[in-house]
Amino acid sequence: MDTILVTGGAGFIGCNFVRLALAETEARLLILDKLTYAGSLESLAGVLGDSRLRFLRGDIAERSTVQRVFLEHRPSAVVNFAAESHVDRSIDDASDFVRTNVVGAFELLEGARLFLAAAPAAERERFRFLHVSTDEVYGSLGLEDPPFTESTPYSPNSPYAASKAGADHLVRAYHETHRLPVLLTNCSNNYGPYQFPEKLIPLMILNALEGKPLPIYGDGGNIRDWIYVDDHCRGILEVLRRGKPGEKYNLGGGSEQTNLEVVDAICDILDKEWPATNSYRELKTFVANRPGHDQRYAIDDAKIRAELGWEPRHDFASGLRATVLWYLANRSWCEAVQAGTYGRERLGLGAKA
Ligand code: NAD
Repeated sequence: MDTILVTGGAGFIGCNFVRLALAETEARLLILDKLTYAGSLESLAGVLGDSRLRFLRGDIAERSTVQRVFLEHRPSAVVNFAAESHVDRSIDDASDFVRTNVVGAFELLEGARLFLAAAPAAERERFRFLHVSTDEVYGSLGLEDPPFTESTPYSPNSPYAASKAGADHLVRAYHETHRLPVLLTNCSNNYGPYQFPEKLIPLMILNALEGKPLPIYGDGGNIRDWIYVDDHCRGILEVLRRGKPGEKYNLGGGSEQTNLEVVDAICDILDKEWPATNSYRELKTFVANRPGHDQRYAIDDAKIRAELGWEPRHDFASGLRATVLWYLANRSWCEAVQAGTYGRERLGLGAKA
């Protein structure tokens, strides 16, 4: 039976991937997660007891932990979600971003290389290392520019994007130099259940419900492509199954929206589903723009569509409605992760790596 090592499996995209992989594959899943502020065992509720899932608390940037995990569990694949992922935090202090996103990715690559060097041929042939990356590595587009393709040169603008770009280069180099069977995915902005409420969509939903201002950077005109998290996770599974080692694949939701359009759409859904005295749109507040704020991201995902037959199943309107309804129905998860009464306090549920 395959064992997939899922790093960062207690985070937003990781926990959605774990649920999908349990449902759609027969693999054993081994989560390695440090449980930073962004990781929560609450996000794995309902699946932690699955006999095919094991949770290890540990740091991907810690060499001894990573090498022990490879030797003890002999994974047939690694899917690396573990990262510091919030651009604003990387502007305040980028040290954890460099440590986890660059050094952590390096330790995983190195752990995989050493493990495979001593592994039998059958294990070496089956093994895949999938690194989950972002469209932010490509930099910023003007309004009329064509979308990012897999050959768009890297031009990261935030410390977060630069740390992800650094890891992507290492991933590529381990294929070129060591023939490590790597796969790289660069995806646009995700939204959906279990996203930590510091990111745009959950932040706006929860602020609105509490009657707090809805802070919008600049004039709200920055454009992102939005993908429903389940579509991203299905793409990752497809790349893992059938992607060509050494290749990178862009994934997008085909849904470019200004931040203002996103906030208005959330307000409109809440006005209908959870009406207050006044429209939630009245809570919108424009604040000073983020330094180095990229104007526009857009993704050309023709390659994965043509080669692997993947395409997103959700459009933005239905995905956003499902997301708002999920947050309305899961206020206790929101309260727990916001209060920080999660993860570490519940470590009795998972072994230490
Ligand atoms: P997240 O911040 O919600 O979760 C990150 C997880 O990694 C958390 O569970 C955290 O505890 C864990 N972690 C952090 N440092 C660690 C370390 N040193 N060792 C082990 N675990 C550690 O992030 P996310 O939004 O789920 O993103 C997952 C991946 O997808 C990231 O690599 C991110 O760059 C990439 N990505 C995210 C988006 C998006 O819109 N969220 C889009 C494209 C790509």
